[in-house]
Amino acid sequence: MTLRPLGIDLSMCFIAGRWQAPSSGDTLALTDPSTGDALCQIARGQEPDIDRAVAAAQAALDGDWGRATAVERGRVLARLGQLVLEQIDVLADLEARDVGKPLTQARADVVALARYMEFYAGAADKIHGSTIPYMDGYTVYTLREPHGVTGHIVPWNYPMQIIGRSVGAALAMGNACVLKPAEEACLTALAFAELAARAGLPAGALNVVPGLGAEAGAALSRHPDVRHVSFTGSVGTGRLVQQAAGENVVPVTLELGGKSPQLVFDDADIDAALPFLVNAGIQNAGQTCSASSRILVQRGVYDRVVAAMAARYSALRVGPALADLDVGPQISLRQKEIVHGFLAQATDLEIAAVADLSGDLPQGGAYVAPTLFTGVAPSHRLAQDEIFGPVQVIIPFDDEAEALAIANGTPYGLVASIWTRDGARQMRLARALRAGQVFLNNYGAGGGVELPFGGSGLSGHGREKGFEALYGFSSLKTVAARHG
Ligand code: NAD
Repeated sequence: MTLRPLGIDLSMCFIAGRWQAPSSGDTLALTDPSTGDALCQIARGQEPDIDRAVAAAQAALDGDWGRATAVERGRVLARLGQLVLEQIDVLADLEARDVGKPLTQARADVVALARYMEFYAGAADKIHGSTIPYMDGYTVYTLREPHGVTGHIVPWNYPMQIIGRSVGAALAMGNACVLKPAEEACLTALAFAELAARAGLPAGALNVVPGLGAEAGAALSRHPDVRHVSFTGSVGTGRLVQQAAGENVVPVTLELGGKSPQLVFDDADIDAALPFLVNAGIQNAGQTCSASSRILVQRGVYDRVVAAMAARYSALRVGPALADLDVGPQISLRQKEIVHGFLAQATDLEIAAVADLSGDLPQGGAYVAPTLFTGVAPSHRLAQDEIFGPVQVIIPFDDEAEALAIANGTPYGLVASIWTRDGARQMRLARALRAGQVFLNNYGAGGGVELPFGGSGLSGHGREKGFEALYGFSSLKTVAARHG
């Protein structure tokens, strides 16, 4: 079967508004993680392709795109959001095959991508400067200006959502983007580029160069004409990207994942909490930066929560993305091995439940059985390191102080949630938890595009989503006029 979504030749880069072969002529093989079968060939973009893409982005800024008003930018994004929604079947099918994501989740990601376009379409003309009262004889005001060419290095776990939040905000502010999707999953990035062109985005305002991280990714992060880099992925690669961009002294947004806890107190509504406790761990087969991999439970409800979570785990259905079950495969056999490596270090832990993998699963698929551990010490490696697989640990605690110490006791700080009916405790902990987002009696709040997102510590820095991202993708100029 030859995949040609929207008529695109998937082995091309999208540069200067045209589909172009990579300079080397080389391609990389993409694999369907649900089956292990070959999916298609993608371009192996390298430094010359990144150079061409950056030059095309700069040309767009010097031309039509740079001259577009905020209203015009917003209109293009609005049309793009509409086209994304019209192509929901194509995009969801592509993402499901490429990432191994169950179809329902893939469709939700398409809707999220469209929502980012809608949100940033509406926001484009609502970012204003201000006037500053100053000395007699002066008028002082500020202007929000785009950085220029922005680099976007995107991982494989939520390509559409991450493209939406970073490219959407960058375009709304008038930047021109060079996007380097992940070598494991880049098909919806290519489809998005095609839709952007159809929506009327001027040539060069968005360029997509697939390729290896060490080649295309590294070339993008060190390019001297790139004025901002946004990166989502692993801590190790984030360090490299920040160092490379640091050579050019340009700002970087890093979103690097976490070890996010949910704190369940004795007075919590356990029935309401249960779906959140489990889903936040197994969604996207645990390959989610904001996955909740640590469940901290007060001793009064400990046995009840363990039993109820275990029952849910035992009922989880694992299978190919297109079968649309609860959990799909990992992105790759390599990622499966990483998760199995963690499980091999858990022989001292008590397993509360393991999902059943005995069904008729495709042989070459990268399946991992969702696994729930109980009674885990907070210092255990499985309670400290990001696993990026469908694995959760349950940790008991006695009181609020202990819960807080455990929750803040990792190098990460992305997301946390608190399950309690005690309002004062909610307020205390919401302030004290080290996390960029805190949820009270829920987890994730539906992932709204309006909600600023980002972390501290090893989870990274900078904020994406919502209006906050627009500030990150722009710089402030102060103008002081002396007029007497
Ligand atoms: P990665 O960080 O290496 O890759 C993410 C992106 O960075 C990809 O587009 C990749 O091509 C690019 N990249 C790789 N090396 C680069 C370099 N030297 N310079 C510039 N860009 C480069 O992640 P991975 O290897 O695909 O996954 C490994 C681990 O990373 C996972 O197990 C997980 O813990 C973590 N991860 C986190 C997230 C997240 O959302 N925070 C996403 C994916 C992976």
